[in-house]
Amino acid sequence: MEQLKLNNGQTIPQLGLGVFKVEDANDLKQAVDAALKNGYRHFDTATIYHNEAWLGEALAESDVKREDLFITSKVWNSNTTYDETIAAFHESLKKLQTDYLDLYLIHWPSEGYNEKWRAMESLYNDGLIKSIGVSNFEKPHMEKLLTTAKVKPAVDQLETHPYFQQKEMNDYLKSLDIAHEAWGPLGQGKSNVLEDPVLKKIAEAHNKSVAQVILHWHLQRDIIVIPKSVHANRIAQNIDVFDFTLTDEEMSLIASIDKNQRGSGDPNDEEMLKN
Ligand code: NAD
Repeated sequence: MEQLKLNNGQTIPQLGLGVFKVEDANDLKQAVDAALKNGYRHFDTATIYHNEAWLGEALAESDVKREDLFITSKVWNSNTTYDETIAAFHESLKKLQTDYLDLYLIHWPSEGYNEKWRAMESLYNDGLIKSIGVSNFEKPHMEKLLTTAKVKPAVDQLETHPYFQQKEMNDYLKSLDIAHEAWGPLGQGKSNVLEDPVLKKIAEAHNKSVAQVILHWHLQRDIIVIPKSVHANRIAQNIDVFDFTLTDEEMSLIASIDKNQRGSGDPNDEEMLKN
């Protein structure tokens, strides 16, 4: 598994398994088992997914050592203060059956994020989190955070896929040495990106699926990916993406199909940030 070095010297496996909307303990257990068997070591959850406890159980039952795993969780919008953030973190640790997290993110730039960050810095300085980061932070959110932050975020997890490529944010994050992580890397199975004719042609040329081409495209942009699936065959397929390279021409062709089209929540929508 390729590892990416974060701005604090820690490393992150560049591909992991996302578990958003896995709403059944058995599905999650089977997905984690299949993932571990296929070489995944990185798992991405969040308090709001209500499956941290199942993930914790599945990982605890595996024979992979904790130090070989990379676990991410996220603090939800309803925790707005310093104390609530500390409490939410400890709750996540308990559910995940671990005594530290590899990465903890502010899920959305909702009310009080500078204060939340101060709490996360304290947990980081106490060694309870190896790296801290944010999610769904666009440039103005990041600028505001950086006015008070003492520790620079290691990661910004953003919706990113071929129809919403986040070129500007990718350049901005590179300029700050903050890693870009893609959520919805496959368009969440709801945009028709997996049917895109340009991607289909490239996939045929490499004898790969469109999903594999998309995942490799992210990797080649130095982006961390956490595709979600609960199906063993797709889980295996989604990690089998390190044995080919896209040409400059193919990268340009993929750049040309960007529609700047979000599939889900907009971090500038105040209503959304309230939930
Ligand atoms: P995704 O882009 O990973 O799409 C998942 C869907 O794609 C699956 O449900 C399936 O329908 C399809 N799929 C997966 N592998 C496939 C394959 N090989 N071939 C064909 N179809 C395939 O979407 P996601 O789950 O929303 O995003 C990935 C992860 O990102 C989540 O599980 C979660 O961990 C994280 N996430 C974070 C945020 C955030 O706000 N930070 C938001 C959404 C998701």
